[in-house]
Amino acid sequence: GAERALKQTLGELAQRFAQLRSPEFRDLWRDVEGIGSALLARLHGDADRLVGVEPGDILVARSVTIRDVIDLCAAGAAALVLEEGSLTSHVVVLCRSAGLAAVSGVRGALEAIDDETFLFVDGDAGVVLVGEAARSRRNTEASAPTTAPQAEPPSPAASRLVDETGRAIVLRANLDIDLDADRARRLGADGVGLWRTFYLYLGRETVPSEDELAAIFAGTLAEFAPAIVTVRLLDLSGPFAERELPHELRGLGDCRGVRLMEQRPEVMDTQLRALMRASAAGRLRILLPFVSELEEITSIAARARFHADDLGVAMPQIGVMIEVPAILMQIDDVAAASDFLAVGSNDLTALLLARSRDAPSARSDTGAPAVLFEAIRRVVEAGERHGVSVSICGEIASQPMHAAALLASGLREFSIAPRLMPTMRAAMAVALGSAARNRELLG
Ligand code: PEP
Ligand code: MG
Repeated sequence: GAERALKQTLGELAQRFAQLRSPEFRDLWRDVEGIGSALLARLHGDADRLVGVEPGDILVARSVTIRDVIDLCAAGAAALVLEEGSLTSHVVVLCRSAGLAAVSGVRGALEAIDDETFLFVDGDAGVVLVGEAARSRRNTEASAPTTAPQAEPPSPAASRLVDETGRAIVLRANLDIDLDADRARRLGADGVGLWRTFYLYLGRETVPSEDELAAIFAGTLAEFAPAIVTVRLLDLSGPFAERELPHELRGLGDCRGVRLMEQRPEVMDTQLRALMRASAAGRLRILLPFVSELEEITSIAARARFHADDLGVAMPQIGVMIEVPAILMQIDDVAAASDFLAVGSNDLTALLLARSRDAPSARSDTGAPAVLFEAIRRVVEAGERHGVSVSICGEIASQPMHAAALLASGLREFSIAPRLMPTMRAAMAVALGSAARNRELLG
């Protein structure tokens, strides 16, 4: 194969360089060797994939890719500590949904920690303890009386949340790589509010076929039926290396969300058609990511209708993610052109504040007032004016400290990582209870 031929040629070249009389020319071998190694890495295809991760390991890094997180989970790593990143970084979002403990934005971690350092990582609290502090915390935990096995979370029906008008608060699941439908339901998920279909395309040589996609979509729709499953069309944002993408999706540059329709219409068409074929299996909604112009909504809806008519199936609901500030400025027109809206507070916050999602930032991590008090309210009000439902699926929706503000802004539909649902549900119950008490007190 090519690898063997390359190694052989490099071996021959090494000998010839070694025989050169001039030391300057002999030194040039280093350059040739460097090119050879880079070529070999390319041929291997997994040049900078994580290797040698053992179960229980903790990876400390400046930043990682989405693929690294998937590999860490597969290797049984215990945790991830990142110098960069915020609560809304794509990799951190993935850790949260996959259940890998992670703490981001730990500046100086690489310098302070070496291979032998004993670490204690608490992803929920955002704490990394090093050395003695980590040991004593581990010892405290180990000597604590063993608690009874965790009680099954109450069934969603038992803890149904309603607002002061009797309207139900709906919690749906964010679906990333894997979703155990039964577990999600037990944790209180009433369907799927955001399915990031990007993961169906990552790490493949070619894009999945229409048949393959239709089978996957139909399977999940059926598992959650009769609850809603919201499938987001392919959104190519997030840190990945080009070679991890199917070859049809390489060389696109910045082509987030529905802009892919312009550059790779056949990929979007395949996805839309597969969705239409699967639609009878459950209750499908299609979500359009990164919409920045009204025209994108009408043209994709027209493509969707074409496939629905062609296959003789009913047209599913088409909704729009509100995550590009430009579309917020046309929110009434967008609401009029959509069946539902979903606030993507991760990108909306980053773009409104002009901050990278990967830069550690207390501001975007804790909910920027412009989003929490302004943007969301505008979307909710436009939804009410046009009779379309509004949900939120960014990470802010799973932060208990924002439960009261989110409910006060009028949101009643939330999509979050299933494992965070019990905590968020409890925070919402408290917020609804204190709102009711305040109303009583104020008469
Ligand atoms: C968002 O931007 O808020 C969102 C939910 O989408 P993603 O995190 O996949 O960009
Ligand atoms: Mg987004």
